[in-house]
Amino acid sequence: MNNNTEPAGEAYKALHFIEEIIEKDLAEGKNQSRVHTRFPPEPNGYLHIGHAKSICLNFGLAERYNGLCNLRFDDTNPEKEEQEYVDSIMEDVSWLGFRWEGEPRYASDYFDQLYAWSEMLILRGKAYVDDQSQEVISEQRGTPTRPGTESPFRSRSVEENLDLFRRMRAGEFPNGARVLRAKVDMASPNMHMRDPILYRILHSEHHRTGDKWCIYPMYDWAHGQSDYLEGITHSICTLEFEIHRPLYDWFLDQIVEPGAYRPRQIEFARLNVSYTVMSKRKLLQLVQEGIVNGWDDPRMPTISGLRRRGYTPESLRRFADLVGVAKRDNVIEVDLLEYAIREDLNKRATRVMAVLDPLKVVITNYPEDRTEEMETVNNPEDEAAGQRLIPFSREIWIEREDFMEEPPSKFFRLAPGREVRLKSAYIIRCDEVVKDGQGHITELRCSYDPDTRSGSGTDRKVKGTIHWVSASHAIDAEVRIYDRLFMDADPDGHKDKEFKDFLNPESLRVIPHAKLEPGLSLVNHGERYQFIRLGYFCADKDSTPGKPVFNRTVTLKETWKKA
Ligand code: ATP
Ligand code: MG
Repeated sequence: MNNNTEPAGEAYKALHFIEEIIEKDLAEGKNQSRVHTRFPPEPNGYLHIGHAKSICLNFGLAERYNGLCNLRFDDTNPEKEEQEYVDSIMEDVSWLGFRWEGEPRYASDYFDQLYAWSEMLILRGKAYVDDQSQEVISEQRGTPTRPGTESPFRSRSVEENLDLFRRMRAGEFPNGARVLRAKVDMASPNMHMRDPILYRILHSEHHRTGDKWCIYPMYDWAHGQSDYLEGITHSICTLEFEIHRPLYDWFLDQIVEPGAYRPRQIEFARLNVSYTVMSKRKLLQLVQEGIVNGWDDPRMPTISGLRRRGYTPESLRRFADLVGVAKRDNVIEVDLLEYAIREDLNKRATRVMAVLDPLKVVITNYPEDRTEEMETVNNPEDEAAGQRLIPFSREIWIEREDFMEEPPSKFFRLAPGREVRLKSAYIIRCDEVVKDGQGHITELRCSYDPDTRSGSGTDRKVKGTIHWVSASHAIDAEVRIYDRLFMDADPDGHKDKEFKDFLNPESLRVIPHAKLEPGLSLVNHGERYQFIRLGYFCADKDSTPGKPVFNRTVTLKETWKKA
């Protein structure tokens, strides 16, 4: 934020470089001053937090410039793509709060047009059928410093090329027998310009086109042309495609009249997050090998995992905003993601009491048959959230770590002979510690001061306040505590080790019998709470009536040590 130039009443933020490009294009009246972006996932996995960044950028720019944003499935690789992924991607984009223009689009919608353009390239002598294997072709491609070797099939006649290409389409040849290549420049310093492959033979059922096709276009040939067919103005992608841009433009040159509408590719740095892997291939591996419990495991960096963990759409959008748009690759600390969700939940999560590691406290001077309803505020950050009543009785649960038999002087919680305040209730004093035969503490016997009821105007103060739940009213819950999935900040960044060598064996700890205040017995999955002093928690889809399951979204403060 730049405060010096902040216009009155309006949050000012400097434009990032893509906004600068767009504003310049708009000012010059390019493409009738339209802004039309797209988010182009390949449906070969679930979306992750990196995709969320790209979604926020593409849809966000469309919103900002009164433009449109398409959702387009880049479904050119039938072997890895599935309807399940298509469905999950639509769910995730909608959940983030974005609406795509019209129906979702598919690169496969354009297979006929791409095929027609390919015949056109052949007729103009700009594409040829190569009978060599893909291995030989990549060997001939040379190296960045050594030019490639021209294929012996490069000089085939137009007639022969057309005939072979049509027979490729008709299914006359097995997988890998031939490819269609663009005739560009085998000596180009850019390897992608060395006669790139346009089509390969794949006798594979496609999740949408079925067995209509046995040749499929390559990503590069499909992507820019799809942009063109959809009227995309700004085709935003990640930096690894920068080197593809000359090819993107070369392909467009073949079909676009000079001076007419054409899309423009702009690259930005992909989002990397510390302690995380983000490649779909690796995430798939974690799922398939059962290292996590599915794509939406709350430890996964997938949007569905983060959702199940308790992240809100607002927090992910805020995170994307905080990260910004960079031209150079960098790594964002996972703490920033946690900051974003804490900041959001602090404003909106109801505070409740839950005891994860229960220790019984008997208040010996409190009548056995009595229950009092204690008033407590739902959220001190939000007056509109109001109050509720929680039951208090003679036997309560407190957190085992809130008691110490031989405490250091700075310990302000419960200890023999010491007093503590029970949140929204009374001050109690510990009179006696009860142990079993092994010396394990099983119970504390305490007395309460009836004159210290919260809200009664008492001014007696003690140093510590702890949370509690009434034992006879408490409900049981399963609570799942997550830690980082990887113990190394850069699990992908080691030469001699693979990412799985850094898995954290303690990334999930299950507490089968936590004690919760009774109001939580009928939570709906997805509801989020602050368990006072313990963190933010979200009801899991595994919850059943009377037996909630909670995921810890995040602790209240940054507790993980920096590497
Ligand atoms: P992966 O490398 O994990 O397989 P991908 O880039 O191949 O991911 P796509 O489905 O092709 O996955 O991605 C859809 C869009 O999301 C693309 O425009 C891509 O550039 C963008 N994207 C993917 N990963 C990131 C990331 N980490 N940060 C920002 N944008 C990303
Ligand atoms: Mg991709």
